[in-house]
Amino acid sequence: MDFHDPMNFGNSTIVDCALNHDDTNLDTSIQLNDNSNLIQVTLDCQINDQKTCNKVENTFKLAGEIINYALVLNTPIIVDAVFFPMGSSNVLGGAIASRLFSITDEDNTERLYPQALVKQLRLPISVQYASSDIKARFNSLKDWYFPDDEGPIRPDQNDILNTVLHELIHGLGFFSSWKNYIDAELQIPTSGLTPLISYNSNITTELPIGSFEFMGFYETIFDKFIIINNDGKQDKLSTLANELNQFSGRNQQFNLSSFNNEFQNSPQFETAKKVLSLSTVKNSLTFMPKGTKKTKDGFVLETSLETYAAGSSIVHVDFNKYSHDSDFLMIYNSVAGVTMNELIIKSGNRTGSAIGPKLLGALSSIGYTLADNPIKSSTISISVSNTFSLIVSCQLFLYIIINH
Ligand SMILES: [Zn+2]
Repeated sequence: MDFHDPMNFGNSTIVDCALNHDDTNLDTSIQLNDNSNLIQVTLDCQINDQKTCNKVENTFKLAGEIINYALVLNTPIIVDAVFFPMGSSNVLGGAIASRLFSITDEDNTERLYPQALVKQLRLPISVQYASSDIKARFNSLKDWYFPDDEGPIRPDQNDILNTVLHELIHGLGFFSSWKNYIDAELQIPTSGLTPLISYNSNITTELPIGSFEFMGFYETIFDKFIIINNDGKQDKLSTLANELNQFSGRNQQFNLSSFNNEFQNSPQFETAKKVLSLSTVKNSLTFMPKGTKKTKDGFVLETSLETYAAGSSIVHVDFNKYSHDSDFLMIYNSVAGVTMNELIIKSGNRTGSAIGPKLLGALSSIGYTLADNPIKSSTISISVSNTFSLIVSCQLFLYIIINH
């Protein structure tokens, strides 16, 4: 499944990745770690201002160095980046995995892995990769603060390095596939959430155009680690994905409207409603890093917004809990008037970068290898009076099409 435009995730196509299991041959097309240039960025800077283009390029370089410091990468990650005017200065930008692969997990569940991660796992399979791992788009109309700008950040500026790093982390796999796909496409109020809808179709663009065969709901590898906080019990969100996949419409032909009718009248729809409800109650959903059980070790996801917000809820971490914490990077809105480095220092600089300890735990859980860097314990209490400005949230993809 390929995604072509980080700002329009309905723009996607089926690809045949020739995913053949082969226990003897590793893919020979991937490059081995030579300890250099493991985040490779191809920047298409579409403005007539070379100085700013150079600053954008430098920002990506710094973001790459931060990721490279935190993770042990064995295969270069290729970022296809474009910096261009996006119409409104309210839009910051976005990033997305260029290709997702469906891989069967040890719990016999197929989940979606971003290409950047699949490359690092060195699976004994022969895989056809997309030319880039992450597609990133950033808005040249925004008044950005660049890392090499002289003078302090102004109150209305956003630190582009913080935004670029945040988006690249999504591209590495920090994203849930639970979303309001059907309601968003039909432009009706959100009534339930599901994992990503996969389907077979003879069309290769967006779902509503014609009929399709529904193939099931697919979680991402990130979703595997989400638990539902329920009076101390930790039920896996994946059990609800399994319930949804009991829907009798699997392998049947629909158009979007008939799919919606049948799904809403199915017993499984209660589950979709339940997840929507969980997405708007604070502390309902937590990413529990691999090997942890205690609530305090969990990474609380963003479920505090009163109304479900696609692209903000679930795919980020709790704003109030982490906006002044060393794990501030994946809150849903960007901080205006404060630089990323200031946030790191004010929150105790526990890891030496904006990738905080819980975020490291999340990246490790989904399959990345962490560099052996020291992590300071959390002993600092912080009082911060920065202003926060809401920004356009990170939209994730719309549909997946899987051609089995
Ligand atoms: Zn985001």
